[in-house]
Amino acid sequence: MGLKVGRYDHTKAELRSRPKRWLITGAAGFIGSNLLEALLRLDQTVVGLDNYSTGHRRNLDEVRLRVTAEQYARFRMIDGDIREIRVCTEAARDVDYVLHQAALGSVPRSINDPVTTNSVNVDGFLNIFVAARDAAVERFVFASSSSVYGDDQGLPKIEHAIGTPLSPYAVTKLVNETYATVFSRTYDIDAIGLRYFNVFGRRQDPDGPYAAVIPRWISAALTGAPVLINGDGETSRDFCYVENVVQANLLAATADRPDATNQIYNIAVGDSTTLNKLFHHIRDVLTPIHPAVANAIPAYTALRKGDVRHSLADIGKARRLLDYEPSHDLSQGLSETIAWYAQARGISQKTMAG
Ligand code: NAD
Repeated sequence: MGLKVGRYDHTKAELRSRPKRWLITGAAGFIGSNLLEALLRLDQTVVGLDNYSTGHRRNLDEVRLRVTAEQYARFRMIDGDIREIRVCTEAARDVDYVLHQAALGSVPRSINDPVTTNSVNVDGFLNIFVAARDAAVERFVFASSSSVYGDDQGLPKIEHAIGTPLSPYAVTKLVNETYATVFSRTYDIDAIGLRYFNVFGRRQDPDGPYAAVIPRWISAALTGAPVLINGDGETSRDFCYVENVVQANLLAATADRPDATNQIYNIAVGDSTTLNKLFHHIRDVLTPIHPAVANAIPAYTALRKGDVRHSLADIGKARRLLDYEPSHDLSQGLSETIAWYAQARGISQKTMAG
């Protein structure tokens, strides 16, 4: 992995020489703030929109520290809710590209509160999409999810073969994709949906009942809390480092071949790892900095409703039409991620190396 990033390098150079105006919804969240940082580093003009329901102002503060003052001055944040069309209209004004990330994630959250999940993920999506249409943006890129594959048993997952959703969350993402198809035919708007598989990396929230597995485990291990595995640990996932997701968004927004637009793409690495293997991997990377975890073992709890058993992406379509090529595999992504969490908890790189 790592070096073959052809069109991505070209795209970044193009953007640097001819900056564009972007709207990122969910900019204070995990993926949104990583997109924001990448775009500001490329001297782009960015509007962010977020209501901080699951995102944090501290993510924006960190981005500010990681770019120059001049770059940060090209960023305008709107504190607002995508469920208000007026807010969406203001955010999309004079924008070239929309990267729509705002949503309520998590399968269990959607099972506990399907009404709120639907209103944010479907009504909010529709508002942003209508605002983007009215602003005549060049392209609307949105975050879909591997959960759309539902009960389909086939592996690897290929974009056209989906099953029945297993959770309200999956329903909302499937509705997003359906709206995108209808909007592109009805209103002549260019849209691309990216089905993210399990994304991880810096600034992913490790706290709360709906935290994702990688930040939750790293945080538990660093604080001496038990690491809990749902099920027998043989559930598998295609874990995707956030840098790959950033790459996919930039390539999707700027793709100019006609057959690349109005499409849905799997965004992942194309490699699956069981939760048991993931646990050992995290433990191995953490042990040098936190020797107490050397002999840690996980605790096993019940499987969660709505979770799919195995997930593995075929990323051939994104490779072919977007020139997507993941720059980080699980191991490279985990090393960078663990370094970030350790630093955030005040464990220095020097300690890590020693
Ligand atoms: P996140 O919770 O960190 O980010 C979502 C952001 O949206 C948050 O900052 C939140 O405050 C904001 N938001 C929520 N409701 C809003 C509203 N009504 N108005 C304005 N802002 C609102 O989650 P993330 O992991 O960064 O996810 C980003 C997108 O990617 C989501 O659409 C999610 O469904 C999708 N996705 C994520 C993963 C993953 O593994 N992280 C996998 C598949 C799909």
